[in-house]
Amino acid sequence: TSSLVWLRRDLRVFDHVALHQALLASERVYCVFVYDTTILNDLPRCDRRVDFIHASLAEVAAELQQLGGYLITRHGDPVDEIPALAEELGVQAVFCNHDYEPQAIARDVTVAKALHAAGRRFHSYKDQVIFEKNEILTQGGGVFSVFTPYKNAWLKRLAADPSVLTPYNIEPHAAHFAPPPKRPPKLPTLAELGFEPSNLKELKIPTGMSGAARLFDDFLTRIADYNVARDYPAVKGPSYLSVHFRFGTLSVRHLVRTVLDLQERGGGGEGAAVWLSELIWREFYAMILYHHPHVVSAAFKPAYDAIAWETGPEADELFAAWCEGRTGYPLVDAAMLQINQTGWMHNRLRMVVASFLTKDLGIDWRRGEAYFALHLNDFDLASNNGGWQWASSSGCDAQPYFRIFNPVAQSEKFDAEGKFIRRYLPQLKELSNKEIHAPWLAPRMLSAGYPPPIVMHDEARKRTLERYEVVKKPA
Ligand code: FAD
Repeated sequence: TSSLVWLRRDLRVFDHVALHQALLASERVYCVFVYDTTILNDLPRCDRRVDFIHASLAEVAAELQQLGGYLITRHGDPVDEIPALAEELGVQAVFCNHDYEPQAIARDVTVAKALHAAGRRFHSYKDQVIFEKNEILTQGGGVFSVFTPYKNAWLKRLAADPSVLTPYNIEPHAAHFAPPPKRPPKLPTLAELGFEPSNLKELKIPTGMSGAARLFDDFLTRIADYNVARDYPAVKGPSYLSVHFRFGTLSVRHLVRTVLDLQERGGGGEGAAVWLSELIWREFYAMILYHHPHVVSAAFKPAYDAIAWETGPEADELFAAWCEGRTGYPLVDAAMLQINQTGWMHNRLRMVVASFLTKDLGIDWRRGEAYFALHLNDFDLASNNGGWQWASSSGCDAQPYFRIFNPVAQSEKFDAEGKFIRRYLPQLKELSNKEIHAPWLAPRMLSAGYPPPIVMHDEARKRTLERYEVVKKPA
């Protein structure tokens, strides 16, 4: 028998459920990645994520070759490409790993139907999370909507069944990879895909399985301090692994196993527990999206859909100032320059800028969410939507609407010496550590070329409290 493994957001050749299962079940296993035109056609012609995928696939192809196989790539709509390739190769089944986004689920249903109609099987597995869908439920069998009890149940379930972390090995079964044809297919160049190279290389963002491993090794030397260091954007505190989580160049099982082993040996300190908790947030949001797909376009809490956001040309100008990092609030602006220039933004700053957009500028969280979706290398529908709805208070277990970040106080607390701000806003370097958080209070000549604040926080705060009054009214 032969089968085809369809790689999507799992660009690796180790501890991979679909690959493992296909190799066990069949004598000849082909692997394909489809450059999905339904996604790519909507992107600007220069996109770091396309670069990231492209570079990571080169590693996948090299690794498959080492193991005696090869990688096929296609450029088109997977709904057509996968059934057509399955036909061309004459395979009996297609294997892949679950994707929990509503559009991806619909796509997979269509592909499965087409395969079934031609007498082929479609197998999909849990791979990108430790626990999915209905695996973690409340005692009454319901879906959690509060994080802490979900996390406790998650940890309890893992302690009861650590075998979920067992690796799905590839190498022992590598003899089942279909050998490459005499003239193996070449991987397409970026130009052939219609894209220009981004600044990913210049930024030294490590790609592929090797990049993820390098980042994780480095993070393990710092993990014990994570609980404190993670909040300061000028400090190398977090793991920087998010883009690797997004594209599956790492195995979540391997990461969790490593952290638990470290803890068992008495290492990892407080930081390891807090980091594990962040991985559980990721699974929490994936579970929320799976069970509540309406969050893609609406508030998790329906009452919040009644909020009247600012619209019209003035709001558009405020939004543009936010996007371009010219709000006059240095921490907000530096954060927006960070995402614009690198495709990554520190978690503390994601919270600060999201709060600023929704609660200082009164702009719909969906506009911010869409901007992040376009610019984040690690853009993940579930986590991004969860983060935005948390900040705007419309989400499950979100912060209460009357908690409004003060952008100056956040700056004073988390970038006290203005180190992060100066990295992105060199025009403010002459300001003292005290002045840099609110330049409009300093002598003007010191911040020449930097805009005055587009709103005054205290006034905006009052407007927001009024705007959110509507969520208190019964529906
Ligand atoms: P670390 O601190 O090292 O955390 C390790 C991993 O845990 C992350 O890579 C990520 O997979 C997961 N994680 C950490 N924090 C969260 C969280 N709050 N929610 C869910 N998962 C988390 N994360 C994304 O991966 N994609 C997004 O599109 C995204 N959008 C966000 C939007 C907003 C408004 C907010 C407030 C947060 C968003 N996050 C998103 C969560 C978080 O900011 C990033 O995961 C984190 O900054 C990535 O850096 P890191 O890998 O160094 O994280």
